[in-house]
Amino acid sequence: MSWRYLCGACRTVTEHSHVGEAYVAQREHIAAVHHGRTPEGDEVRPLTDEELGYGGGPPLPSPAYRPHHEKPGQPPSQGGPFLALMIVLVLIGWGLYSLLPR
Ligand SMILES: [Zn+2]
Repeated sequence: MSWRYLCGACRTVTEHSHVGEAYVAQREHIAAVHHGRTPEGDEVRPLTDEELGYGGGPPLPSPAYRPHHEKPGQPPSQGGPFLALMIVLVLIGWGLYSLLPR
């Protein structure tokens, strides 16, 4: 779980992967910026899911948004690469056939 320290006085926000790190950042911030006096409204709290999604890139699409022509559990259509492979094989076979002595 990610944790956030928010200073209500100067709006400084730091994010941490452990709650202990967030409290350390709180103490360091208060000592360095506010001369040891606890600012009003400072808090350490876990990040919400919305905040975790923010800035981390778009969320992965849900399977519910999958296009309807794709049946779940089946791989995407392989028609393009398969057709190209068949054409290459036919061309190779044709080239070998043309090399045969007549
Ligand atoms: Zn502050």
